[in-house]
Amino acid sequence: MTDTEDHRRLIVAGTGIAGLTAAIYAARSNNDPLVLEGDEPGGQLTLTSEVENYPGFPEGISGPDLINEMKAQAEQFGSDLKHGVVENVDDSERPFRVELTNGDVYTCDAFIAASGASARTLGIPGEDDLMGYGVSTCATCDGAFFRGEDMLVVGGGDAAMEEAHFLTKFANKVYIAHRREEFRAEDYWIDKVQKKVESGEIEIMRNTEVLEMHGSPEDGVDHVTLARNDAGYPSEKLDDDETEVFDFDVGAVFIAIGHTPNTDYLEDTGVELDETGYIVAKGGKGGGQTATDVPGLFGAGDVVDYHYQQAVTAAGMGCKAAIDADDYLEDLPEAESEAEAAAEAADD
Ligand code: NAP
Repeated sequence: MTDTEDHRRLIVAGTGIAGLTAAIYAARSNNDPLVLEGDEPGGQLTLTSEVENYPGFPEGISGPDLINEMKAQAEQFGSDLKHGVVENVDDSERPFRVELTNGDVYTCDAFIAASGASARTLGIPGEDDLMGYGVSTCATCDGAFFRGEDMLVVGGGDAAMEEAHFLTKFANKVYIAHRREEFRAEDYWIDKVQKKVESGEIEIMRNTEVLEMHGSPEDGVDHVTLARNDAGYPSEKLDDDETEVFDFDVGAVFIAIGHTPNTDYLEDTGVELDETGYIVAKGGKGGGQTATDVPGLFGAGDVVDYHYQQAVTAAGMGCKAAIDADDYLEDLPEAESEAEAAAEAADD
């Protein structure tokens, strides 16, 4: 039994930058989008403090403020925002059948997957037990809880650098553990972190990985076990004499090692996903760049883009997906009547 079954012309899954931009464009094209806000409303920008590279805001804007403005803009043009986590999309029939985890079912003529990506974790002992009790994937959300502590940030990308920099506001000292010598982060962030290294607020531990986290939900993180090997990737070289394994006292651990796309609900559809779960969209230069292998089902933002992953590129893809969906929906009556005519001819 389902609580509701409701037909919509267009459903957008996700209220991050990609989903909200798609909603703004789709609403303005009279496609009456239902926009489903999942478990991480607003997406990753809501976990960011200051966004300084979104064009149009020379003084920067906070991630949550940018998202709230976009939501207001989407609603102003008639988008219908509702909480709902998509469990399954059935593309074996038209309209698509969209099942939510709360039992609600919608049908729709077109669907834009803009459900973003969720933080990756290390999968090491102690991590699950201490998640939320000193271990976190969001410095912006949780940093202030550990004021005065030594904090460890894991990762070597922009997110790790940004988080480490941010955490200096609260920490006694911030340590960055990165599994190899070179950072993946852009020079802008490396330079900012270097200034904090020089002032003694950050210390970088290269070629270092966390093997285990120790502590308890009651008392939080007590210490971690680290491995270091100058050749990098020490956890793969534990038998190597050059690998040093040691305990290290910290009061909080922030994991910033990238994200996994939220595309589980597409696994049974005809949409091609790559080996890490990203949607394979058509791409290219012409129209239909956000199209998938399933006509009427489009992908935008971090579910597709494993490379750029910027707020402004997600917005651009959301816009493209709404335009692609609009083109598809405009051609739909024609496509449907052609299909009906073909079915009738086959019956004769
Ligand atoms: P990322 O660029 O994929 O970096 C992930 C980092 O985590 C890499 O240094 C990686 O090491 C490390 N890592 C991955 N798995 C690991 C494991 N199991 N154990 C230890 N280390 C591991 O991810 P991100 O930093 O989240 O950034 C994602 C995207 O968002 C990027 O395009 C970035 O530019 C963007 N971003 C931008 C800003 C900004 O301010 N402009 C801020 C945050 C993010 P390796 O380097 O060895 O692979």
